[in-house]
Amino acid sequence: MNNLNIDFEKVNGLVPAIIQDVNSREVLMLGYMNQQALEESIATGKVTFFSRTRQKLWTKGETSGNFLMIHQIEQDCDADTLLIQAKPVGPVCHKGDDTCFAHENKSRTFFIDQLRKVIKDRRKNPAEKSYTASLFAAGINKVAQKVGEEAVEIVIEAKDNDKQLFMGEAADLLFHYLVLLEAKGYELDEVMDVLIDRHQK
Ligand code: AMP
Ligand code: ZN
Ligand code: ZN
Ligand code: ZN
Repeated sequence: MNNLNIDFEKVNGLVPAIIQDVNSREVLMLGYMNQQALEESIATGKVTFFSRTRQKLWTKGETSGNFLMIHQIEQDCDADTLLIQAKPVGPVCHKGDDTCFAHENKSRTFFIDQLRKVIKDRRKNPAEKSYTASLFAAGINKVAQKVGEEAVEIVIEAKDNDKQLFMGEAADLLFHYLVLLEAKGYELDEVMDVLIDRHQK
């Protein structure tokens, strides 16, 4: 949050602030801040804009309760735009959507995090009809064996040229791999740490 030196003269008193979800990295909305709004945002930890229509400070969520809790504020290369990572308390858009840019905005890789949460939940609260829960019930060795089977299946499909079948096996392998990590009690982030560490060498 430090190291901000927005040149408010250059931006005619109003700096655009892109609000990004700190977890999903989705773009949530865009607003404008004057110097006072930026100071208020920093002081309160809640995104506060300068409303161009109402010509006054506007703390997002002041009437709806859907505040944007600030995690990080960053300025761009030439100090005329802000990128704010925030955690939304509720729907961000006044039309009720999670984001003002509701379409084509989600990164597909983020879905892995959602899937991880579902897998974790199936382990903690096993439902009778859940395939994932039945995997956990069968034990770590069984889950590991499933990963091995799916690996063999993708090897077989890799030799052919049927994209659909290959994708099916690729998805199976990834899913069972995630289940195995969970069964072992490890996080995907820990695997990423290993890859990042290797990359840096
Ligand atoms: P809120 O700040 O959420 O309490 O909403 C107060 C008012 O601000 C709403 O009635 C809308 O007029 C406006 N507003 C809230 N959220 C947005 C948004 N994401 N984009 C544009 N206007 C908004
Ligand atoms: Zn810029
Ligand atoms: Zn909106
Ligand atoms: Zn398979």
